[in-house]
Amino acid sequence: MSAIFTFDNSYARELEGLYLPWTGAKAPAPQVLRVNVGLAEELGIDPVELKTAEGAAFLTGSDTPEGAAPLAMAYAGHQFGGFSAQLGDGRALLLGEVIDRNGKRRDIHLKGSGRTPFSRGGDGKAVLGPVLREYLIGEAMHALGVPTTRALAASLTGEMVWREGGKPGAVLARVASSHLRVGTFQFFASRGETDRLRQLADYAIARHFPDLTGSEGRYLQLLTRVCDAQARLIAQWVNLGFVHGVMNTDNVAISGETIDYGPCAFIDAYDPKAVFSSIDRNGRYAYGNQPNIAQWNLARFAESLLDLIDPEDSDAAIAKATEALNQFPQHYQAAWLKGVRAKLGLMKDLPGDLDLANDLLALMAESRADFTQTFRSLSDVVRGSEAAFRDRFLDLAAIDPWLGRYGERTTREDIPTNARTAAMDRANPIYIPRNHKVEEALEAAENGNLAPFDTLLEAITSPFEAREGFEAYAAPAPDDFGPYTTYCGT
Ligand code: AMP
Ligand code: MG
Repeated sequence: MSAIFTFDNSYARELEGLYLPWTGAKAPAPQVLRVNVGLAEELGIDPVELKTAEGAAFLTGSDTPEGAAPLAMAYAGHQFGGFSAQLGDGRALLLGEVIDRNGKRRDIHLKGSGRTPFSRGGDGKAVLGPVLREYLIGEAMHALGVPTTRALAASLTGEMVWREGGKPGAVLARVASSHLRVGTFQFFASRGETDRLRQLADYAIARHFPDLTGSEGRYLQLLTRVCDAQARLIAQWVNLGFVHGVMNTDNVAISGETIDYGPCAFIDAYDPKAVFSSIDRNGRYAYGNQPNIAQWNLARFAESLLDLIDPEDSDAAIAKATEALNQFPQHYQAAWLKGVRAKLGLMKDLPGDLDLANDLLALMAESRADFTQTFRSLSDVVRGSEAAFRDRFLDLAAIDPWLGRYGERTTREDIPTNARTAAMDRANPIYIPRNHKVEEALEAAENGNLAPFDTLLEAITSPFEAREGFEAYAAPAPDDFGPYTTYCGT
């Protein structure tokens, strides 16, 4: 029988000293709950084999597949603004890397596979609810076109884990372009280990920005590329109403993928101040603050690269890095506006578009209009029926003039109505993982019923296509759902 995985482990091979080789804990009764069949196939992995007893042992970290080089990555990070010099994979392992069907290198990583030397006081475990949340939200983001890590499988360990009560222990096997984080760079920079830092930066460049390999000024370019990728990523989040919840620097991936879904959520009512995480008491990671925090995180990345940007002249390094960082707001704004134009069904870039978008958002905030439904119903306006859109606003005297301006703006482009509405319906999802539906699915799963999880997954993996029978997945939470809080995914 051929091996389930064909590994090619560049991190283990090329970055010795930047990680700790480690293996997972034995799970009492490994059981694969769900396999992401499409993703497995993309990786050249037989999904059926993943579901065997052997697959279950590998996917929980209980056993190490041939060719794997499991390791715990070292990283540091600013958590809620405070620096921790040592975090690292405290309950995770990089199992190895595979080359996917498109020739792209992808990490296979286990989260919840037991204690490592980076565990500090933690138990090294994960529980089913947060594992399935990460599965759901990652798949939703992928279907929405947002760069993201993705779940390959969710498995039970057969062990109860203590989290304010006993919860089923679980492991998420996830796939990422890499697990290089801003915090990985901070780890070596803060220890003054410049040679390792350079090795890491060259590795990151070769893996994510290969055209920069060996070029002069490549470390400054690395900063610029990462800033640009983050600008585009955060703009996508904001245009979908996504709140990451824990934008610590250890949760910022160099690849520009969304990573580490913990207390994340999609907003229902539009509110720039929306916060869902129980531990974000000051709103540091509020919906509308995400671009600012992204720039703050990138400033920490820039600091960690200074010795590489100009080893001889720190003032010159600071000047160059600052210039690169200062581009972020314009790049973010441009990416965001491009996204909003698509949501509004506007093809050309005309003066006044920014005000048109911002004025709509201000009216939505005033009416606490449902973010997803409001944008989705705008294509009905273009089709000539305003009722569904207007109904979302309390102040009709204010939304009607806006509709007048919008109508006038659309006439400045000669586009057939059906082409415009089709484009809008590809930019404005109908199904997102609504918080109450996510909670319902996770609660049922904890009680052994995966049917709500499966149906929700089906809805959110075709987010733009209205389907009969899925009406409940398009609606905001009922009033009795109350304010939503998510707890850190531990
Ligand atoms: P996170 O909040 O998942 O981004 O994790 C932040 C840091 O805490 C990382 O270093 C994790 O590895 C570590 N960590 C989180 N949960 C646990 C746990 N249950 N056991 C050990 N380490 C953990
Ligand atoms: Mg994390």
